[in-house]
Amino acid sequence: MHNAEILHAEKCPVIKMIGSEPAVADAIRENCPDDVDLETLDDQADLSSHLEEDGQPVDVVLLGTSPDLAVQIAQRIHTIDKFLPVIILTRPEACRPLRRTLMFSPFLGSEVIPWSSEDLTALPNALMEAVNRRRQRQRHHHALCRAQVRFEKLPHLKPELNQYLDQLLDCAPIGVMTIDASGVILTLNHQAQEILNATNRITLGGALNDLFSKDDHPVIANLRTEIATGRSPSAQRTVRLRETDSVRKYIAITMAPLCYRNTMRQPGLMVILQDVTSRVDAEAERRDAEEKLRKHVKTLRKFHEISTREDICFDEKLSGVLKLACAQFGLAAGMVTSINGEEFDIIASVGSMDLDGLQNAGLHSNRFCFRAIKSKEPYTYVGDGQGPNCSGINKSCETPVAYIGVRYLVNDIIEGTLCFWGNKAESDEFTDADKELIKMMGQWLGREWQRARSEARMRKLSSALEQAADAVMITDRNRMIEYVNGSFECMTGYSKEELIGRPAGVLRSGFHDQEFYNQIWRLISSGKAYRGELVNRKKDGSIYHEQRTITPLRDANGEITHFISTGHDITELVETQRQNRLHQSELTHVARLSTLGEMTSGLAHELNQPLCAITTFTQTCLRMLSAGEYKPDDLYYGLQQVLRQAETATEIFRRLRMFSRKGEIEECSVELGQIVGEIESFVESEALQNLINVHFDVPDRLPPVWADRIQLEQVLLNLVRNAMEAVSERDPGCRNVTITATRNEETEVTVDVRDSGHGCPPDIANRLFEPFFTTKEKGMGVGLGISQSIVEAHGGRLWLEETSPQGSVFRFTVPQAKGEKDE
Ligand code: ADP
Repeated sequence: MHNAEILHAEKCPVIKMIGSEPAVADAIRENCPDDVDLETLDDQADLSSHLEEDGQPVDVVLLGTSPDLAVQIAQRIHTIDKFLPVIILTRPEACRPLRRTLMFSPFLGSEVIPWSSEDLTALPNALMEAVNRRRQRQRHHHALCRAQVRFEKLPHLKPELNQYLDQLLDCAPIGVMTIDASGVILTLNHQAQEILNATNRITLGGALNDLFSKDDHPVIANLRTEIATGRSPSAQRTVRLRETDSVRKYIAITMAPLCYRNTMRQPGLMVILQDVTSRVDAEAERRDAEEKLRKHVKTLRKFHEISTREDICFDEKLSGVLKLACAQFGLAAGMVTSINGEEFDIIASVGSMDLDGLQNAGLHSNRFCFRAIKSKEPYTYVGDGQGPNCSGINKSCETPVAYIGVRYLVNDIIEGTLCFWGNKAESDEFTDADKELIKMMGQWLGREWQRARSEARMRKLSSALEQAADAVMITDRNRMIEYVNGSFECMTGYSKEELIGRPAGVLRSGFHDQEFYNQIWRLISSGKAYRGELVNRKKDGSIYHEQRTITPLRDANGEITHFISTGHDITELVETQRQNRLHQSELTHVARLSTLGEMTSGLAHELNQPLCAITTFTQTCLRMLSAGEYKPDDLYYGLQQVLRQAETATEIFRRLRMFSRKGEIEECSVELGQIVGEIESFVESEALQNLINVHFDVPDRLPPVWADRIQLEQVLLNLVRNAMEAVSERDPGCRNVTITATRNEETEVTVDVRDSGHGCPPDIANRLFEPFFTTKEKGMGVGLGISQSIVEAHGGRLWLEETSPQGSVFRFTVPQAKGEKDE
């Protein structure tokens, strides 16, 4: 915007000219806006009157006089108005010297400008700019003056302001005070009075310090110094109010300087007060609780340390724990008691307190311990000994008697108490943490004792096991060996190290099939004990017989966790039994055979006669035939004699067979199962010894047969022994003999004796039943023949049912008992 336009909005610019030529005045007038008031004055005196008069103020003065005079006029003007712009018109060459002159002339302001008289076209604009500068300066000056006036009025408004502020502060929720530099209270609001429990009358004019506890005076003094010296703009401290009538109050004091705007001088300090008693109390409580917690944690850690130490014995641990708890509870003595009828025996104790002395004084622990025993939770007592059930004890004692005790259990049975007692220095009750701690210690004590006792029991038990003559093996549920005793090592030849961790099946000999072991496993898994004989193999490969009992072991919940097996080597016994049976059987056999032998030699003599007679008669007949001199009657007679003698020989042989049957048949109803049982026990030891698996398969509901029990036994025994001899050449594990009995449709019972032997080649098979036919070195060759005679005498049959290189089956039948047949 053009300067002239700015001015236009205000009063019109006033320019005074002195000594200017009329041509110059015209040129300016031409180029200036219309509203410019341009007046030419005759001399400087006129100007002075214009400047000092009230009226339209002059904006710019234009001097067209000589330079010297112009400087003088400017000096005069500036003594009146230092900021009035003066433009001096001068010749161009004089401009520079004039500027220098102006620079060093006194009493001149900055608004004196030399202007070349040749540059008249730009002059109007320069004049307008000077007018603008002049007007702006005047505006600033006026604003300053107005502010000054208002400022000067301000002190007159102050009382009102103060009142307003006081009202405001009285309603404020914080206490506000002012104190002077020496700490004297100047003002305080309503809230401050409340906080300080004091009225204006008491506090105004008094010292700030007097309101607070003496201990805190240095704190307040420091705070004041800190604020007064400006080290910090404001600071807060918590101090305690002077105690009156047991009122305990904590005040947070914040101080800030009070200072005037135009001076650094501090008339005093502003003090903000806040009642922080509840906060301080809460803080103290928190600290207290924290401290207790820390102490408790420390004790717990220590307790854990002591109870888990491995380098000290249990008694040392117990003593450490008792001492620790004494320190925690602040009590003099600690002890472990065990209940003994109406009394408690002290079994461990620590502490400086003379327990006997206390007991004598009537402070009898029993009363407290009985209470502790009855409750699951710890029992505590803090008092003067006059409490329930405590009448008359410790009357003379002024400090409170304190007791804390808890019962402890060993194997779920209450055994006694863990308790602490003495004169409690701290009057407060036991805390929950104390109760938890003693409870934990009681549980630990019970557990430790339980463990110690079971360990002692285990030691006794294991030493008994170790010493036991029986071989003992303990396996886990999965039949892995966990323990074997010395006898077991001796019996098997394996060391503990070789057996522990291995499956119990390591001892299997191969004699029993898998089904046999499965049966045992099913039995013991169902919780029953197994008793029986096992054929096992030692480390050196030899076979031994063991009488074994396997019993399941159960845990507290009744779950089977282990199996204990006890047994002893019965190999010698089995062998002796076998020998005995063999001997017995041989005796029987030999007795029979020797009688048979005697009979045979006797009969041989008897047989000799018919045979000689047959030979003689046959030779005579042959001789007559070859001589051609014979009569048919003679030949007839001779052959008749041969026949008669042959019949005599047959009769002799028949009698021999009859003899071996031991006399007359005494038939009756016989349970085949019983006969089989007899045979089973008879061959059992021999079968075990020779690792032959003899299996009897006779159904329970088999009908009885009509037979002579002894003779039927002889037949079956003979067939089974033949079968066992046939399989003995096979490898162990392939030696099987099976006896099966079935009821057939023909109202008979069929018995099969099946073996896995070498079988009978056809040339042998054809001669099996011939008298005295044998393939065995010590055989008699009469067994099968006699057996066949016996069976046939009972109305049954005996034959070789099948044979192959994999084995043979001998079969015989016997009629069922009569009652059964009729069914
Ligand atoms: P011994 O047993 O005294 O030889 P036996 O009359 O009982 O007399 O047997 C006659 C023969 O029959 C035996 O020597 C044997 O060769 C054969 N024998 C008997 N039983 C069987 C069998 N189960 N397997 C193979 N051969 C057999």
